[in-house]
Amino acid sequence: MPSRTSLLYAITGGLLAILIHALFFETGWPYENSYLHVFDILSWILIAFFIGRMKEGWDRRTRELEHANAELQKEMEERQKAEQAMREREELFSDLFDNSRDMIQSIAPDGRIIYANRAWRENLGFAKNEVPGFPMFEVIHPDCHAHCMERFEALLSGREVDKIETEFVARDGRRIMVEGKCNCKFVDNKPVAIRGIFRDVTERRKLEIELQKAQKLEAIGILAGGIAHDFNNILTGLLAVITLVKNALPPESEQIEILEEARQSCLQGKELTGKFITFAEGGSPLKKCINIRELLQQSVEIALRGADIACQFALAADMHEVLIDAGQMQQVFNNVVINAREAMVNGGEVRVRAENQQVGEDNGLDVAPGAYLRIAITDQGVGIPQENLARIFDPYFTTKRMASQRGTGFGLAICYSIMRKHGGTITVESENGKGTTFYIYLPACP
Ligand code: ADP
Ligand code: MG
Repeated sequence: MPSRTSLLYAITGGLLAILIHALFFETGWPYENSYLHVFDILSWILIAFFIGRMKEGWDRRTRELEHANAELQKEMEERQKAEQAMREREELFSDLFDNSRDMIQSIAPDGRIIYANRAWRENLGFAKNEVPGFPMFEVIHPDCHAHCMERFEALLSGREVDKIETEFVARDGRRIMVEGKCNCKFVDNKPVAIRGIFRDVTERRKLEIELQKAQKLEAIGILAGGIAHDFNNILTGLLAVITLVKNALPPESEQIEILEEARQSCLQGKELTGKFITFAEGGSPLKKCINIRELLQQSVEIALRGADIACQFALAADMHEVLIDAGQMQQVFNNVVINAREAMVNGGEVRVRAENQQVGEDNGLDVAPGAYLRIAITDQGVGIPQENLARIFDPYFTTKRMASQRGTGFGLAICYSIMRKHGGTITVESENGKGTTFYIYLPACP
């Protein structure tokens, strides 16, 4: 069926042809060769009709193109919207992960890291691009490898694993105690990733250990202090009797020597009970606000005198003044340095550092937050095995049982007690065979 446009074109073409014929040719009817005119007009009508058809085709094509264009535009807009939504979702999740204080990680079944969030990277000292492909077991402390490997394999075989407690090692060698949970993602029954979320509990653990230490030592102190006082009284009585009897004997009597031995034993006993009392009560400190520089240097030098041990000081120029009993603090430095000396039988170096430190709320130290002076005394001695670290502050704990180096196990117990009485504390870090550092925290003068 011819459409309206082509018919309109045909009619217009016919009328135009008739008009031209009427204007430019003789138009009497009938006239010569009239069939030629009719043929001409019919040709015009036909040509106009086809032009109309063509115009219609163009119009249709244009409309189709416009429609297709609009569709494409719509599709593009929808795609852009979808991309934008995806980007927003990605940003949301990445923001959620990266702003989490917990360490979040995803590990491939071959143990290589697929993803780790910002807390993980910052805690362990990794740049973002160093994470993908890095072997996870290289950040786990070697002591924890066996335990972690067992958990890892359990997860890969589809078993559930409860809370994981382990230790990571940061790039700078810091040990980070963590606890967390992991689960495994399976696709077509094949493990593809182990997802884990861990919390840094280093400070909390340290605090727990400090609190346990404080409670244990306090309990021992109460018991030991009570017994020591009673014993001290008994010994004082005994000493008085011995002295009386000794004085009553004629000077040439053989018993005098025996009584003198008894007196010496009593004095030794009193010395021991005195140590218990100092440990239990920390003596009664006579505190003064002083700059500790000279006292520290002198105490360390005296304790090292005669030993083949070098000493290096790095004391901050702006050290806080501290409120201390000088005699008691000297005893603390002396006990720590004597231990360092005894740990370095083949010589070495003791390093003493002192610097101001602001101790925050979650300090893991069991001391009040505030300004402190931190003194670190480091030796290059035999170190302290991990299993002994929790016991070295206990009275009577000693590993020195040889004739040449007989310990009483009181040195650090007394240090601890004195430090607590000063509102500070003493902590230790050591690696077997690599030396030891004692940290002494003293509250700054108000
Ligand atoms: P003592 O020195 O009489 O044994 P301490 O209380 O002073 O008692 O020390 C307890 C134990 O702690 C020591 O026997 C030793 O095993 C360990 N210790 C203390 N300081 C060090 C150190 N600097 N290096 C290695 N071990 C140490
Ligand atoms: Mg000692």
